[in-house]
Amino acid sequence: MPELPEVETIRQKLVPYVQDRVVTEAWADPAEKFQAAQELAGAQIGELRRLGKYLIFELDDGREMVAHLGMTGAFLVVPETKQLDVSHIRARWTLDDGNQLAYRDIRRFGRLRVVPAGCYDTAPTLFSQGPDALSEAFTAGVLYYGLRRSRRLLKTQLLSQRPVAGLGNIYADEALWEARIAPTVKQLSQRRCEALHAAIKEVLDRALEYGGTTLRDYRMPDESTGYFQRELKCYGRAGEPCLRCGEPLRRKVLDARSTCWCPKCQK
Ligand SMILES: [Zn+2]
Repeated sequence: MPELPEVETIRQKLVPYVQDRVVTEAWADPAEKFQAAQELAGAQIGELRRLGKYLIFELDDGREMVAHLGMTGAFLVVPETKQLDVSHIRARWTLDDGNQLAYRDIRRFGRLRVVPAGCYDTAPTLFSQGPDALSEAFTAGVLYYGLRRSRRLLKTQLLSQRPVAGLGNIYADEALWEARIAPTVKQLSQRRCEALHAAIKEVLDRALEYGGTTLRDYRMPDESTGYFQRELKCYGRAGEPCLRCGEPLRRKVLDARSTCWCPKCQK
């Protein structure tokens, strides 16, 4: 599933193609969750923003298109001169420069919404999520107080997006390993919270440098892939030795999510 570094990489790659373009034609798959794509016809796209794992296309008429990519959602830009491969395309927009922007989603877990700018109450996860992990609003103090509001497992809290927005399974496991904190703890001292905050920032910044992690079906708008999968220290390494202490990493399903961690150096 695309997490913050992947969505941010997609955003950066899309901006030069979509910003200030007018949508001359729009098509959407009949499924209700993609229908909003049609509402872009005639609108001009302004800034392309990101909040956690959501992409937000500002429109010139006071609305926004909010896109969540689910497991396999991807935006593609297809030049006028090239034929679009229509398999798994759920929405398509013709832009005034002749290029086509397309939304492809193999497993259909993504969703497109058009909302009045800033009104996210119809997107419950976005509405209730905490500060974006790369924003200045995300501080160690905000994380500390955010985590104190719940008594659930730390890993589950991070995946909920409530204390901080942007982490999914990959970067939650990586950040917890980096910070030497077990995913099963429920409360963190202020000092350990500072370590986790620093680890989250560090892991996401590094993943962003590598263009994100590319696993399975996920691709960038230009069909390129990220390279952070080679840098993963914990996620997907269950049974392999911990790169810090040599203990085999353990895998367990916690609150329905597969989790990998070092039972020896993550406390
Ligand atoms: Zn270890």
